[in-house]
Amino acid sequence: MHTPHTPLLRYGWDEHAERGYAPHAAAGFRPARILRVDRGGRCLAATGDGTVRADTGPVSGTDPTAQPCTGDWAVLADGPTGPLVHALLPRRTAFLRSTSSKRSDGQVLAANVDVAIIAVSLAAELDLGRLERFAALAWASGAQPLLALTKADLVPDVTHLYADAAAAVPGVDVLTLSAVAGTGTAELAQRLRGRTGVLLGVSGAGKSTLVNALLGEEASAVRATRDRDGKGRHTTTHRELFPLPGGGVLIDTPGLRGVGLWDADAGVEQAFTDVEALAARCRFPDCGHRSEPGCAVLAALADGSLPHRRWESYGKLQRESARLAARTDARLRAEHRKEFKRRQQEGRHAMERKRGRLR
Ligand code: ZN
Repeated sequence: MHTPHTPLLRYGWDEHAERGYAPHAAAGFRPARILRVDRGGRCLAATGDGTVRADTGPVSGTDPTAQPCTGDWAVLADGPTGPLVHALLPRRTAFLRSTSSKRSDGQVLAANVDVAIIAVSLAAELDLGRLERFAALAWASGAQPLLALTKADLVPDVTHLYADAAAAVPGVDVLTLSAVAGTGTAELAQRLRGRTGVLLGVSGAGKSTLVNALLGEEASAVRATRDRDGKGRHTTTHRELFPLPGGGVLIDTPGLRGVGLWDADAGVEQAFTDVEALAARCRFPDCGHRSEPGCAVLAALADGSLPHRRWESYGKLQRESARLAARTDARLRAEHRKEFKRRQQEGRHAMERKRGRLR
């Protein structure tokens, strides 16, 4: 069946997008997927008729999380100066990051992601705390995390590293990859078929190699406009969302390379299902896991089945998440106060006008 949106299939157009777009289907509008957002209110978007530059438009108001981001499905309209983002379709999932500034306004880094690939290099020392943080962020986004252990060719025996890493991310699919040997890439490509994946991981985790392996021959054609900088690094990327040759879509945004936590409460719970299950077995439902009798957490720490490192990591991420939540609440309260004052003032003006008319 050929619909006007068929060319968008390779950008991940699916039933969800179809349903989301239906209320907007009218003359003058067309669906598009956002490939990259630039400064100055511009973005790059894929439409049924190819790639266009568009104004990000009057979508949002002041809420930073309502701004278009890579992976969003958008409704494009023809503005006076060219295509314009008229509306965003509801997001299935969203990666939010707290900004590094004191304001904890979230920033959406990627939308409508199904699989969050956490790339971790086996050649570097395994940082399990960071891995847990990435997993919490992934779960919180609504996407399914997938752990990609890269550079397997650089370590003689991956068995222990694999076991340690897998234990830190219960419920997560773990793949071992070697771009050099060409192993693991096909499995990863298969898991991305018909879905949208995003790449997480610090620099040196082998993400670029992974992207190139997944994109195959298309890599050099679509990816880099300027190839390398003086330090031999790939610098400018043409876009941040790539259709994969085997089907599916990959998002690689620089913003996701260092991540903080943003409202990851649910994510922390899911990243630590083993700890949560232990805590549920404590004798007292309000157990503080300090000295209470019948504490399952303390027992597991004592017999080594719960590593101290993991228990501390859990507490740390929970506290961090709570701090962020409190900061957000403060910001929301301040906004409500402002809104209340504005309404009060409006009310006063209205009263004065009324009195004026009555006089
Ligand atoms: Zn306890």
